[in-house]
Amino acid sequence: MSKKVLVLGEVRDGELRNVSFEAIAAAKEISSGGEVVAVLCGEGLNEAGKALIHFGADRVVLAEHSLLSTYSTDGYVQALLQVIDQEKPDGLVLGHTALGKDLSPRLAARLKSGLISDVTSLEQAGENVVFTRPIYSGKAFEKKVITDGLVFVTIRPNNIPPLEIDESRSGDVAALAVDVKDLRTVVKDVVRKASTGVDLSEAKIIVAGGRGVKSEDGFKPLQELADVLGAAVGASRGACDADYCDYSLQIGQTGKVVTPDLYIACGISGAIQHLAGMSNSKVIVAINKDPEASIFSVADYGIVGDLFEVVPLLTEEFKNV
Ligand code: FAD
Repeated sequence: MSKKVLVLGEVRDGELRNVSFEAIAAAKEISSGGEVVAVLCGEGLNEAGKALIHFGADRVVLAEHSLLSTYSTDGYVQALLQVIDQEKPDGLVLGHTALGKDLSPRLAARLKSGLISDVTSLEQAGENVVFTRPIYSGKAFEKKVITDGLVFVTIRPNNIPPLEIDESRSGDVAALAVDVKDLRTVVKDVVRKASTGVDLSEAKIIVAGGRGVKSEDGFKPLQELADVLGAAVGASRGACDADYCDYSLQIGQTGKVVTPDLYIACGISGAIQHLAGMSNSKVIVAINKDPEASIFSVADYGIVGDLFEVVPLLTEEFKNV
């Protein structure tokens, strides 16, 4: 049976995040030929709305209010409840991002709905869509179906391929003035740390360093390799705890969960808590001088050697590609 599915698009610094397009692809599958309606919260998002149409949304609702320009849980919950009340969707798809992880349980509670979080793939099986999600820190996968009520899911970034862009697609992009009030928290200012510009959770390639890099300076060859590859730099908690880099780079059970196309682990032993955050990467390359290091058990390609020799060699090679 065809369904109407709502998708929340995410915008950061005026740019749509890729997960928005991936969520549309997931919504298309869930809708089974029905309608996919994308929602954007904030102001001045008309162009972003059109881009969502090009990536497969049938229609876009711009939930507009000055208080939605920056994310707040209260504000987004209020806005989305109004959109949901207007649209009465059968399904709802959000990214399993920091925003989605914060927002989805609250929305589910308000809607008295269930929620399947962190979906990595989905497939049609008869009447239902079967959702796959990792459990036990990625050591196993479970399959779930929703047989009744709202089909509410969050999808893990970088797992569900977006649809091909089609700039000839057209669809309605309509503003809805939502009522947002009594926010308990309001963002006054956003202070950013200097970054390489590549967002770790959406990066296609990640060069990650562990305690084996030995110092803050030890990250420099990794950054050089990342620059050549257009990659983001990540880290193990070992490296963060040793103060070689910022905790915002931490990947793992208590850090970010990433699924890039290519993950290059340099001087990382492969503790289970680190693997929880990266073992679903499509191709894993491990560089470690200990041939017994656990990281080699999940690696597609292993290089036993000193990272300070291997990484600059890789950088030189990739410069010539
Ligand atoms: P180490 O285990 O010390 O490994 C360093 C590696 O570098 C070794 O394998 C060594 O052979 C190699 N090496 C050294 N020098 C070189 C060289 N010159 N060239 C090549 N290789 C070299 N960890 C995370 O990463 N993320 C998490 O989210 C996380 N959450 C945790 C949550 C809990 C509750 C707990 C208890 C732990 C958590 N940890 C997490 C920590 C985790 O258990 C490990 O301690 C940590 O991942 C180890 O980091 P590491 O691999 O960089 O360091």
